[in-house]
Amino acid sequence: MNANKRESAKSPPLASAPALPDAFEEQMKAQLAAEFPAFQTALTQPAPVSIRLNPRKQGYDSTDLIPVPWCADGFYLPERPSFTLDPLFQAGAYYVQEASSMLLSEALRQSVNLNRPLRALDLCAAPGGKSTLLASALSPDSLLVCNEVIRSRVSVLRENLDKWGCPNVVVTNHDPDEMTNLAGFFDVVLVDAPCSGEGLFRKDPEAVHEWSEASVQLCSSRQKRILSAAANLLDEGGILIYSTCTYNDPENRNNMQYLAEHGFQNRALTLPDDWGIVEKSSDDAVGYQCYPHRVRGEGFFISIFRKKTFTAAVKLDARTFRTIRALRTRDTASAAKWLQNPADFSFWEKPNGAVMALPKSLEKTFLFLDSALHNKGFGLDMGQFKGQDFIPSHALALSTAVNQSLPAIELSKENALRYFKKENLVFDTPVSGWLLAQYKGLNLGWVKGVGNRVNNYLPKDWRIRMDIKEYV
Ligand code: SAM
Repeated sequence: MNANKRESAKSPPLASAPALPDAFEEQMKAQLAAEFPAFQTALTQPAPVSIRLNPRKQGYDSTDLIPVPWCADGFYLPERPSFTLDPLFQAGAYYVQEASSMLLSEALRQSVNLNRPLRALDLCAAPGGKSTLLASALSPDSLLVCNEVIRSRVSVLRENLDKWGCPNVVVTNHDPDEMTNLAGFFDVVLVDAPCSGEGLFRKDPEAVHEWSEASVQLCSSRQKRILSAAANLLDEGGILIYSTCTYNDPENRNNMQYLAEHGFQNRALTLPDDWGIVEKSSDDAVGYQCYPHRVRGEGFFISIFRKKTFTAAVKLDARTFRTIRALRTRDTASAAKWLQNPADFSFWEKPNGAVMALPKSLEKTFLFLDSALHNKGFGLDMGQFKGQDFIPSHALALSTAVNQSLPAIELSKENALRYFKKENLVFDTPVSGWLLAQYKGLNLGWVKGVGNRVNNYLPKDWRIRMDIKEYV
């Protein structure tokens, strides 16, 4: 289930600082010196709430919100609403993301030419916060591969990317060491590494209990392994972005130094002083640290590198290993009607009959990836033919590629929430056939009209379980 769905309606302010492990406190005193008391006080304050808007799904009114300085789409909210019960959230109009981690947006802006088509990989992607940021930052002709090694976390990643609605995305489930088929393939690789989570102590008191010096060392070596695998996947001149949500040197400083000593040139960012972000150096590299007493956000670290060495790419013959086949001409004509610009796509069928649309500009790359990876989501999953009928997928309704002229029905907030409770809705006037259920003009999913009633095609895993009474 979507982690974003598990949020509670309000996050209670912390009454006092979480009891910090002694060794962590010593580490932070050494790191922050006179600033340590301010850091400690910040941990007693409620974590700021921030969202990042989806630039391809307009509809959220951000007029009165305070912007996040380092991300054009990022905004602070005055308090934490119930996101689960906001139809605009369910429609993918925004993602709930901690503000410091949106610094990735500025790092990309300063280190990557985002105007040209790129091949990008988010190697540690679930639940998908940075993947959705990357999807928005990259040009539409770029490819984004979102990989998550832990199988149980792949579905939430897919769900968040389906909501975001970009058809140029592949979701995969690999250990980074298994991706050797893609040596030298990518222009940009993000390693948002599994870490000791010191920067989340305020938001997630559980992280305090899990912290130990031994776990810091374990995280540091794990990150080194992931970074070595990532290094091999980049093309010469490609950009590697390493980030964590922690403060300690064994993870952040040692690993950025490791990259600087193993074929990477560090890239500095220019950040205004009034953002409050601290520059941290090792012998040959610099990274950027957010602290909760200096920025309106949690602890976050980021460092940027350019690959200096060449890695020979593996040659795969996509035709030999391909699992999908071209859709029959007759079915292609029917499937095409569901897309806004069908000429931009080619149509394919999986062995289970699911119909996929692949952006033509990326077709060869997608077919190559089909042979090289265990795909868990690939281009736009459109739906399936059942006899003469085409049953559209939920992902199609949420996709930015769906035909906007298809019949639609605008729902009140109450009916939108009933839709997400998977109730069948009743209307005054009869409706028939497939309709896009919409809220404030944004697609929520499919309904099928049968007289005055519509059947609800929300996938059962997406059903919200919260009580909606006080919100309708
Ligand atoms: N980038 C995500 C986002 O912004 O929503 C958060 C990623 S989280 C910090 C780190 C991710 O790395 C987790 O999803 C975790 O499952 C994954 N991970 C854990 N062990 C890993 C390993 N050995 N190799 C690669 N990824 C791993």
